[in-house]
Amino acid sequence: MPELRSRTTPLRARSVTTTPPLHPQTPQNRADAGAGTPRDTMLVSETFTSIQGEGRLTGVPSFFIRLSGCNLRCAWCDTPYASWNPEGQTRTVAELVAEFAAARARHVVITGGEPMIFPQVEPLARALKDAGAHITIETAGTVFRDLPCDLMSISPKLSGSAPQPGDPRDPTGVWRQRHEERRIDTQALTRLIERYPQRQLKFVICTQADMDEIEGLLARLPAIAPDEVLLMPEGVAEPSPEQRALVTQACIRHNWRYCHRLHITLYGNRRGT
Ligand code: SF4
Repeated sequence: MPELRSRTTPLRARSVTTTPPLHPQTPQNRADAGAGTPRDTMLVSETFTSIQGEGRLTGVPSFFIRLSGCNLRCAWCDTPYASWNPEGQTRTVAELVAEFAAARARHVVITGGEPMIFPQVEPLARALKDAGAHITIETAGTVFRDLPCDLMSISPKLSGSAPQPGDPRDPTGVWRQRHEERRIDTQALTRLIERYPQRQLKFVICTQADMDEIEGLLARLPAIAPDEVLLMPEGVAEPSPEQRALVTQACIRHNWRYCHRLHITLYGNRRGT
């Protein structure tokens, strides 16, 4: 989740495999919990090699594996093909590890969608670690799993992320309700923070009110260093001066970190970057 990494044709990506929809009639929640999928296979919307654009490892060449399916439905989700309408092809652990090896990257980013809802992420992470990968997992932090991970990149979703009433993608409002019920799980967040000492908490910022919400959430979680908290302006383009000011001022006030989106600067809003 990687929430604000956007994708189409990369300018410098070394390899890209963007899988076409396998099941165009896929129900919205088909991949919600990875149910019915054999233990070593999973729905993958795309794999690609690019530059990590967000967080502590910004700038590091990485092989990305985007699992398709999410238990949330953020209004501003920039990977709807892995959440609102999960699409892709079923891939095996062995296939994905072979593709990682062929990419000749040292770092791998397992993202989504929400990769942690899939039990298959555990054998995948173990096999990638056996292959020598440095593993980053990008998650919204609603599900805990104990698996090999060198950087747990957690992006809790604030209240402004919920689909709004009248969103045509959610005509009955069922996803707004599910999203609200699921988006913050302090028990899962606590376990993730305690289990993974190499972690970062990334927040997408829409308004000033988000800062109070972050402070309230952090007060309910195990203590983390201020520079483990990263703030990103919401959007799929370069932030406006007003957005930058909102985020930078909050970072200075709290000793949090401003999170640039290098991939947007390098490639623009393109899939596969
Ligand atoms: S949590 Fe799911 S819906 Fe929200 S931004 Fe990430 S992939 Fe999209």
